[in-house]
Amino acid sequence: MDDIGRLIDLTSQMHLEPGEDVNCPQLSQSKKDAIITSNAVLPNGKKIKLLKTLLTSACERNCYYCPFRSGRDLRRATFSPDDFAKLYLQLHKGGIADGIFLSSGVINGGINTQDKLLATVDILRRKYQYNGYIHLKIMPGAEKAQVEEAMRLADRVSINLEAPNTERLLQLAPLKQYTDELLRPLQWVEEIRRTQPGNRAWRGYWPSSVTQFVVGAVGDTDLELLSTTQNLYHQLKLKRAYFSAFSPISDTPLENQTATSPMREHRLYEASFLVRDYGFDIEELPYDKQGNLPLESDPKLMWARKNINEPIEINTADRERLLRIPGVGIKGAGEILKARRKNLIRDIGELRPFGVNINRAKPFITLNGRRPAHQLKLW
Ligand code: SF4
Repeated sequence: MDDIGRLIDLTSQMHLEPGEDVNCPQLSQSKKDAIITSNAVLPNGKKIKLLKTLLTSACERNCYYCPFRSGRDLRRATFSPDDFAKLYLQLHKGGIADGIFLSSGVINGGINTQDKLLATVDILRRKYQYNGYIHLKIMPGAEKAQVEEAMRLADRVSINLEAPNTERLLQLAPLKQYTDELLRPLQWVEEIRRTQPGNRAWRGYWPSSVTQFVVGAVGDTDLELLSTTQNLYHQLKLKRAYFSAFSPISDTPLENQTATSPMREHRLYEASFLVRDYGFDIEELPYDKQGNLPLESDPKLMWARKNINEPIEINTADRERLLRIPGVGIKGAGEILKARRKNLIRDIGELRPFGVNINRAKPFITLNGRRPAHQLKLW
C-alpha cells in the first residue's frame, strides 16, 4: 500500500472524533484528495482544513465502541514518525490540509505510543519548522513529562474520558482506568498551565485542553455527563467537552446496541454551553425522571418558561440576567450593555444587529417598560 492509501485507511473512521469540526467530514473525489479533512474552527476563530488521522490503526486495547479495537477484522496501517511527518508536510504544502489532529491506536503501552506521537510532532516543529495547527492526543497511561512535552509542541491537547465516571467506563472500555489513565493527565494539563510559565510552550502560551464522551451506549445519563463536564469546566478549565452520539459498529461487543439520537448530542452541547458560558448550574436544567434532557426543546427555553415569571427589562437587567433570556447569546448581551449606555433601547428591531434571536427573546422581555409587539403564544 502506498502512503496515500495508508493515510486513507488511517483517516477512515476519524469522523468519530468531533475535534474542532464545524461540518461533517468530507471525502473528495480524486485519490490525491480522497483523504478526510474536516472544516474546523481554531480556538482563535480561524477556519482551516483539518487532517484528522491516526499514526497507527493497530491497537492492543479493546474499547467496546471502537472500530480499531484489538481482534477486530480490519486492515491496519502504520506510519513511522519520520514518514508521517514527511507526508503531512507534502499535504500541507500542497494545500490539502492546514492543520493536523493526531491520535493513535495503543501499541506496547500508552507511554511507548505517546513517545511516537511526540516524535512525530517534534520532527514537524523542529526539523521542518512547521508552525501550523496541531491538536495532539494524550494516550491513556502517558507520563506527566510526556504531557508537558505535548503541551510544549501542540496548540491543543486532548484526552478522551469517553464516559462520565469509572462505572460507565468499565462497561465501555474495560482496559482503560478512569482516574489513573484518563482523568489524571487532564489534571496535569491544568496543573502545568497553572504553575509553569507559558513561554515554555512553542507559541509562548500553553495550549487548550478538550475531551470527548461517547453518549448513550451504556445507559449513561445526561445528568451524569453534564455533572462531569461541569467539574471539568470549573476545576480543570477545559476549553470544551465534545459529545459523540453512540453509533454501533459491526464486530464490536456493542454492535447490537441502539444508536443514540443525534438530537441528544445536540441538547448536551446546548446544556454544556449554558454551564460553561451562561452561568447555569447543572442542577437548574430540566431533566426527565431518568436524568436526561428532554429532546423536544432546548434547555434554556425550557428553563425560561418555568422560571422567568416576570419579563426581563432589557435596559436595566445585568449581564447575568440578560444571559438567561432565550435568544440572547454572549455577544448579544455584551452589545445590549454597550448600546444602552448611549440610548434607551425601545424597539425590538434594535436587538437584531446584536445577533439576538428576537422571536425567541420577545416573550421574555420588556423594552423601556413595554412588552414588544407581536407577542408569540409562548408566554
Ligand atoms: S485505545 Fe483508542 S484506538 Fe484502541 S480500542 Fe480504545 S479507543 Fe480504540
